[in-house]
Amino acid sequence: MKTEKVRCLIIGSGPAGYTAAIYAGRANLSPVLYEGLQPGGQLTTTTEVENFPGYPEGITGPELMEDLRKQAERFGTEVRFGIATAADLSASPYKITIDEEKVIEAQTVIISTGATAKYLGLDDEKKYAGMGVSACATCDGFFYRKKVVAVVGGGDTACEEAIYLAGLASKVFLIVRKSFLRASKIMQDRVINHEKIEVLFEHNTLGLFGDNGVEGAHMVKRMGEADEERYDIAIDGFFLAIGHKPNSEIFKPYVETDEVGYIITEGNSPRTKVPGVFAAGDVADSHYRQAITAAGSGCKAAMEAERYLSEKGL
Ligand code: NDP
Repeated sequence: MKTEKVRCLIIGSGPAGYTAAIYAGRANLSPVLYEGLQPGGQLTTTTEVENFPGYPEGITGPELMEDLRKQAERFGTEVRFGIATAADLSASPYKITIDEEKVIEAQTVIISTGATAKYLGLDDEKKYAGMGVSACATCDGFFYRKKVVAVVGGGDTACEEAIYLAGLASKVFLIVRKSFLRASKIMQDRVINHEKIEVLFEHNTLGLFGDNGVEGAHMVKRMGEADEERYDIAIDGFFLAIGHKPNSEIFKPYVETDEVGYIITEGNSPRTKVPGVFAAGDVADSHYRQAITAAGSGCKAAMEAERYLSEKGL
């Protein structure tokens, strides 16, 4: 297999990866960044980002990521297409396989691989994938203009997606398994007061049906209780917004992770237990998961990488 030596390898192209790249580039580490499965990361699947400092009018996710990429490239980061498919972090230089065809031997590695949307685990989600089932309202919402859709979840993502879809669809059901929303108060208010959104509290989805794509969902209210009710709703689209799984699989044999798979770092730093290997952004953050906190940890990771290299005289 072809090999290449790099001083600083950054895996992932969300706010953490690009910020690490900006700092590593400015510190002359000649970083190489692999974009991964979803170039630009999760923010490319959101619409308006209103809470990233510096944008008083807001900015779209894809525009923000494009700006970050350009800024990283301006300071010499080589941004490449490619997915890290295997890792050997047992000894330095660390070996990361890209697309199963090339090995990067890296003196420092910044893991900023983010997290991926979760599904309920219903067979029907697979059956109707691309035919009415989606985990990205901003990617697929366009297809549901003037139609009826459902969003599953009660967090900020679910509320955001429901509001976005309500701007396109004729009606949006928000399916929430508990009797309350977990989302921030401002998002809750927007959802509850939206004339096109109907929140179905204490509801679970048992399955989907339809001949040529989703035509409806089998619902259960207060599952397992004495007053449990089962009925169907007619929908054209079914959107999942129930959280994410960290993309840490290939690193798990070497770094510490929690039970969900989030990489555990040392104290408040992005240092993993492998010297010279750092984790930044959502792959190591089960709690804040914000673009700005990811960017902050990317900055820390690059600073740590620079310190590590200079201490080792590399
Ligand atoms: P969360 O983990 O906050 O919420 C997940 C939601 O999905 C919960 O309501 C949960 O229900 C529900 N859920 C999980 N599994 C299932 C299941 N099997 N069946 C039915 N429902 C299920 O994830 P989010 O993606 O919403 O948010 C992640 C983080 O990102 C949060 O910290 C959030 O605040 C932040 N965020 C911030 C935004 C912003 O500030 N603009 C926008 C989007 C996200 P239950 O409550 O019962 O566990």
